Amino acid sequence: MNSKSKQTSASAVAWLDSDNVKYDPRLMNSGRPHSEPDRWLPFIFLHLGCLLVIPCGVSAVALWTCVVLYVLRMFAITGFYHRYFSHRTFKTSRVMQFLFAVIGCMSVQRGPLWWAAHHRKHHAASDTEDDIHSPVARSFLWSHIAWITSTKNMVTDYSRISDFAKYPELRWLNRFDWFVPLMLFFSLYGFGQWLHIYYPQTQTDGMQMLAWGFFVSTTILFHATAAINSVAHLAGYRRYDTPDNSRNNPILAIFTLGEGWHNNHHRYSNCTRQGIAWWEVDITYYVLRLFQLFGLVSDIKKIPENALSSASTSESRSRP
Ligand SMILES: [Zn+2]
Ligand SMILES: [Zn+2]
Repeated sequence: MNSKSKQTSASAVAWLDSDNVKYDPRLMNSGRPHSEPDRWLPFIFLHLGCLLVIPCGVSAVALWTCVVLYVLRMFAITGFYHRYFSHRTFKTSRVMQFLFAVIGCMSVQRGPLWWAAHHRKHHAASDTEDDIHSPVARSFLWSHIAWITSTKNMVTDYSRISDFAKYPELRWLNRFDWFVPLMLFFSLYGFGQWLHIYYPQTQTDGMQMLAWGFFVSTTILFHATAAINSVAHLAGYRRYDTPDNSRNNPILAIFTLGEGWHNNHHRYSNCTRQGIAWWEVDITYYVLRLFQLFGLVSDIKKIPENALSSASTSESRSRP
């Protein structure tokens, strides 16, 4: 191998390794993060992929795959990336932790350590200049998507997530965060082709399964998750007078399996439950309670008894 091809293969490996961009205090302190055009390419690819539904059409099995993958991956994001890895609101085994880290990775929202470290940063400085994705301090577009197009925000600050960074399997998933989505991509294509050959009555094939199961499902999943950073800091009602602009948004709560109760969450970020009033439906919480019943998780942190009566008092002003 000559030096030029060695250099090319080294840079290809570096590109595939998320830890290639190391945490560097000089980069971190180099002013406001800004959007970089080439980092929009994966999002453009994801959205353009949705257009495949036009030539590929639709079938019941493709639509069901889209829905099931949406719900399963949303649960992994809300229940584990958020309520477990970011806030440690309950305990679980190393096997369950890894299993849901893998399913979370299937969401194409990067690795669990990256996700949780950034989310912890959000809570530490919500809606201030130091918030990584505030629609109040910056703009709606920035909080929704543009913040992920900055190299500064690509770095995993392992010092913020040292409690989980000690697990080598999680570190590996985090470094090679494209691996699980790629497996999902090829599995969906293979599944569609298998149905096409052996069960032609399903009227599907590999490309149709990719269009619905990967592109459409992942795109909606992304926007629903991102809306918590953007919409849930702008639109909805505030039960608690928290130092940020977080809101409870019932429509978002439906699409995100309970994450829309974002003002409740900013007030009680160390509690598993986010829907506090009886009518604030929180599917993720109900499923986690079920998991607890089967011994899959434990020590679910409860909301204080006086959570509703203490609403909007000075007691609720402290930063979580
Ligand atoms: Zn928030
Ligand atoms: Zn949170």
